[in-house]
Amino acid sequence: MKFNTKTIHGGQKHEEATGSVMPPIFQTSTYAQSSPGVHKGYEYSRAANPTRTALENAFASIENGSHGFAFSSGLSAIDCVLRLLEPGDEVIAGDDLYGGTYRMFTRLFGKYGLKFKFVDMNNVENVTNVVSESTKLIWLETPTNPLMKVADIAEITKAVKDKNQNILVTVDNTFATPYLQRPLDLGADIVMHSATKYLGGHSDLVMGALMVKDAKLAEELHFIQFAGGAVAGPMDSFLALRGVKTLHIRMQRHCENGKAIAEYLLNHPKVGKVYYPGLEDHPNHDIAKKQMDDFGGMVSFRLKDESKEAAFKFLESTKVFTLAESLGGVESLVNHPSTMTHASIPEPEREKIGITDSLIRLSVGIEDIEDLISDIEQALN
Ligand SMILES: *Cc1c(COP(=O)(O)O)cnc(C)c1O
Repeated sequence: MKFNTKTIHGGQKHEEATGSVMPPIFQTSTYAQSSPGVHKGYEYSRAANPTRTALENAFASIENGSHGFAFSSGLSAIDCVLRLLEPGDEVIAGDDLYGGTYRMFTRLFGKYGLKFKFVDMNNVENVTNVVSESTKLIWLETPTNPLMKVADIAEITKAVKDKNQNILVTVDNTFATPYLQRPLDLGADIVMHSATKYLGGHSDLVMGALMVKDAKLAEELHFIQFAGGAVAGPMDSFLALRGVKTLHIRMQRHCENGKAIAEYLLNHPKVGKVYYPGLEDHPNHDIAKKQMDDFGGMVSFRLKDESKEAAFKFLESTKVFTLAESLGGVESLVNHPSTMTHASIPEPEREKIGITDSLIRLSVGIEDIEDLISDIEQALN
C-alpha cells in the first residue's frame, strides 16, 4: 500500500460484530470473561482497548513499523522510552529540543542517575565525538522546535551504530510526520510523536505515539506502557484515528502554505532571518531535501526590530493566526517560544542557541493562503 492509502486503511479492519467501517468508541474499562483468564483478547483497558488497538495499528502502518503505541500525551511517550534505560546510562540529544522534552530529561530523569549530553546535531561528528561506553540512547528531533534545524537521520544512525550496534536511536517526528519523513526506513529504532499536533491535526486532543519495527523492543515498550499506565483513552483514540485519515491531504496544504509564507517573509523589509528548511539558504537545506519529501508547515522568523516590544506587537495583532501554544492543527497559530513553549529552558541556554525574544514561530494552517498573508501583512504594519 502507498502512503495515502495507508493513512486511511493501514492496519484497519471493519468491526466484526456489525461491519462498522469506523471502529466504535469502546468506552469500557473491562471485558467479560467466560472462565478465569478466558477472554476475547481484552481484559482491562490499560492493557488494551479495541479503539486504541485500531489506532495503534494505524500508527504502526503510517511509519512503516510493525507495532504502534498510543499514550496520554507526547511527553508520556517520551517517558516510556526513557524507562528502557538504567541509572548511569547516557543519552545524547540535540541542543534545540522541544522545551518539555528538555525539562523531562534534566529535571525528572537527571535525579534517577541518567546522564544527558546536548550537542548540535547539524554535524555527525558532534554526536560520535561524545559517544561513550555508557551511551544507550540518541534522541533526535528533526526538524527542531522552534529553530527548524535539520539532522541527518541516516548518517547519524549509521555512525552511532558503527560504534555500538546496541545504541538505540529515537526520532521525534512530530514536525515532519511520516508524510514527509520515515525515520524507521532510515535506520532509527523508535519513532515518537506528539500526536497532539499533526497526527491528530484538529487541536482537539493531547496524545503521544511510539512506533517500532522490532518485536522485542515492542514487547519491552508495551510492558512499560502497561506497567506505567499512561495510555490514550478510547474517545481520544477515535479522534486521533479520524485525524490520521486526512493526514496526507492536510500535510500537502500545510507544505504549500508554509512555503508561500516563508518566501513572503523572506522578501519583507521588516523581517530579519527566516527559518524554514525549504529555503535554499537554510544551512541544512541539502539534508532536508535528501530525507524529507517536502518541508512542512512550521516557519520561524525574527523581526528586524529585535526588541521584545516589536515581537509582542506583532503577536497581539494577528487575527487569523491565533496566539497560542501547540501546532499542527488545521488552523494557523502564532507562538512566542521564549515566553511560551520554551520558557522551561533556562534563559542562558535559550540565549546560547538563539531562542531569544525576537523569535516568532508560526504553525501555518490550511486556510486560504491569501488570508494568511494579508493577516501577516497587517500585523507587520
Ligand atoms: C508538543 C511536542 C511534544 C510534547 O507532546 P505533548 O503531546 O504536548 O505531551 C514533544 N515534541 C515535540 C516536537 C512537540 O512539538
